[in-house]
This record gives sequence, C-alpha cells and structure tokens, in this order.
Amino acid sequence: MFNYSPEPDLLDSKTILITGAGDGIGRACAKSFASHGATVILLSRSQQKLEQLYDEIEAEHPGRTIIHPLDFRTASAADFQLLAQSLDEQFPCLDGLIHNAALLGARSPIEFYPEKDWNDLMQVNVTAAFLLTKALIPALSRSEDARLLFTSSSVGRTGRAYWGAYAVSKFAVEGMMQTLAEEVAKTTAIRVNSLNPGGTRTAMRRDAYPAEDPASQPAPEEIMPVYLYLFSPAAWSLHGQALDVRGFQSVVPT
Ligand code: NDP
Repeated sequence: MFNYSPEPDLLDSKTILITGAGDGIGRACAKSFASHGATVILLSRSQQKLEQLYDEIEAEHPGRTIIHPLDFRTASAADFQLLAQSLDEQFPCLDGLIHNAALLGARSPIEFYPEKDWNDLMQVNVTAAFLLTKALIPALSRSEDARLLFTSSSVGRTGRAYWGAYAVSKFAVEGMMQTLAEEVAKTTAIRVNSLNPGGTRTAMRRDAYPAEDPASQPAPEEIMPVYLYLFSPAAWSLHGQALDVRGFQSVVPT
C-alpha cells in the first residue's frame, strides 16, 4: 500500500464535501479528512448513519462537520442548488469535492437488466454527480487550490459481462472527469481526477463478492493515504487522470 503519513494539519482551513459519507470508503474519508484539519460537509442517504458519524467526528474535532442527508435517487437540480446556496452563505469557497456515493445494482446480462434499476443507478451514480458538480463549480472556482475527485472502478475502464448499469455508470464517470478536466484546466484552479479504490472491505464489496473472505481486502482506512495525498499540495500537477489506489505512486517532483 502507498506509504504517506501527512502532518495532522495537512487540510487545515480546507472545506471539503464528500458524498456517500455514511458508510464504507466515504465514511473513512470523512473521519480521515476531519482528523487532518478539514471542515467536512457530508452527504449521504441515511440520516441515522450521518448523525452517528457526526457525533464521532465532533467528539474529537468539534465544529468541523456539517451533515446533509439527501437521497440522490430522488434529489432534483433545485435540491443541489439550495445546498450550494447554503454553503455559499457559510464558506467563502469550497476546496474539495469527492463524488463517492454509488449503487452497485443488479449483476445481470444487459438483455435482462431491469429498466427501473438501470434508471435509478444512472440517477445516483451519474446524474446526481453531474448536478452536484454543476451546482458547486462556482464555489470550487473561488478556491486557490481545489480538488474534484470522481470515484471509478476497474469495470469503468474495461467492460465486464454482467456488471450492467454499474459498469456503464463508471465509464460515464470517467467521461465526465475527462470532459470537465479539459473545461476547467485553463480558467480555474480546480484539479479533476478519478480514482479507482480497488477492492475494499465495505458493504458494496460484500454484495459484489459474497463468497469472498472479507479479510482478503483492505479496510477503507488502509487506502486513506492515497486520498489524503490527492488533496495535498504535492498532488497539484495531477489533472485529468484516471488513477488507481493499487500501485499508486506519488508525483515525482521535476
Ligand atoms: P458502500 O455501499 O459501503 O457505501 C456507499 C455510500 O453511497 C453509502 O454511504 C450510501 O449511503 C451512499 N449512497 C448509496 N445510494 C445513495 C443514494 N441514493 N443517495 C445518497 N447516497 C447514497 O460503498 P463503498 O464504500 O464500497 O463504495 C464507495 C465508492 O467506491 C463507490 O463509488 C464505489 O462504486 C467505489 N468502489 C468501491 C469498491 C469496493 O471494493 N468497495 C471497488 C471499486 C469502486 P447510505 O449509507 O446513507 O445508504
């Protein structure tokens, strides 16, 4: 695993929004980023999970957490605009956005893939990320050093039979990353990348591979060094890239 132990003040004065923060990798990001000084804005579907996480972070780092329960399956553009307005009233800018929330959906041949599941999954994995990005680009543009990280998967880079809407949604995420990266490269200080976390011990992984020994995969906390590095000043030159946690190498200064 990537070896990186940043100072606890790495993200001091940074404001970073994380989606799917209630569980799995997003939850670990929330705790790790807050413990490195960031103010974290946490979106997820389950209010109960977010409240539990809020209590845990507040107990150690008071005043650094905002929770915002929102179901991406039904959230509209207006919901994301309202969120952006509320953040504008509280913060001068946004320094980071991690699109992490996702549904796995059915594993089924495309021929038999249920249409409703397809639409729900595209809404959560693709359209919600588009709407949230659109609403937050102005706040991210006001930062002197902003990072926008999409979450990909190996099946979003090479197609795999029976992974249906999930695989297609991750290809779409890669496309959104590349398109946005080109658009903002010259006019803003937003660095846009995608990251494939690789197999990680979460509820989604258990659903995808029920027969697998969970201990064979790293816990979300173990992959946090890569996430922290990508939000550090050292990763500034990374832009428009499809990155992987496995085998991740730091940027070698030139
Ligand atoms: P989990 O299933 O553990 O967590 C997913 C998170 O997304 C939860 O917090 C969940 O919210 C949130 N979410 C799901 N549906 C909605 C919705 N409708 N509205 C709002 N939030 C929602 O997944 P992981 O932590 O494993 O995955 C995180 C990311 O990493 C995903 O993008 C996934 O595709 C990617 N990934 C994961 C891998 C792995 O092995 N774990 C491998 C490759 C990629 P709540 O808890 O509130 O229900």
